[in-house]
Amino acid sequence: MSVKGKPACHGDEMPGSGEPLFLYRLLRSRFGFLDWWPGDTKEEVFVGAILTQQTSWKNVEKAISNLKGCDAVSIEKIASMDLHRLEQLVRPSGYYRQKAMRLKQACSYIINSYGSLDSFFRLGGSELRLKLLSIKGIGPETADSIALYAAGKPSFVIDAYTKRIMHRIYGTSEGISYEELKAYFERSLGEDAELYNDFHAQFVELGKRYCRAKPLCSGCPACHICAYAKNVQNINPC
Ligand code: SF4
Repeated sequence: MSVKGKPACHGDEMPGSGEPLFLYRLLRSRFGFLDWWPGDTKEEVFVGAILTQQTSWKNVEKAISNLKGCDAVSIEKIASMDLHRLEQLVRPSGYYRQKAMRLKQACSYIINSYGSLDSFFRLGGSELRLKLLSIKGIGPETADSIALYAAGKPSFVIDAYTKRIMHRIYGTSEGISYEELKAYFERSLGEDAELYNDFHAQFVELGKRYCRAKPLCSGCPACHICAYAKNVQNINPC
């Protein structure tokens, strides 16, 4: 299957290494540079990345607002905070008991092992990612979000939008593993934290505005290169 001369892939095949940058430029030309991730400080981004699991960003904002109201968007303060009090502050983010516990454990680990978030973030990108993944409750997407958006390391973030969009445009396997897709982007793009940062934001924007569960292909900036639009929606040209 090919779309306007561009190779698509089947099963385990991956698109050519030039495709990610081509797609990024296409999305950026429509959406512009997206100044992501919401958060005023590294600590706020770190806390937000943990709280945003299984909830909307709106709910995270309420929890962060509660923490800010107590001047507690601080790794040190969260590590030493009474757990019940922390639970009440992060309650709007849902699963608040589990999240408060995990947040406190993560902050305690950083303070006890490194003394501060800045020292922790001085680790190299790969080591930082491994340490983050060793913290209970931090999975690959959260680890990469923290490494990229809080620590500024070139660690590409994969989320459900990325998988869905890559599957629809290029035919990558729906069951592709997180690590495989991440490695593909990092191989194709080279180490570039600023590019990774904005590219992930572009995927989120495309996923929210057009490539929803029920896609809105007409008007989508990727429509003319998208295998799904051509072969399933029968839209050609857009
Ligand atoms: S054309 Fe449709 S399926 Fe393809 S990326 Fe855009 S919204 Fe998704």
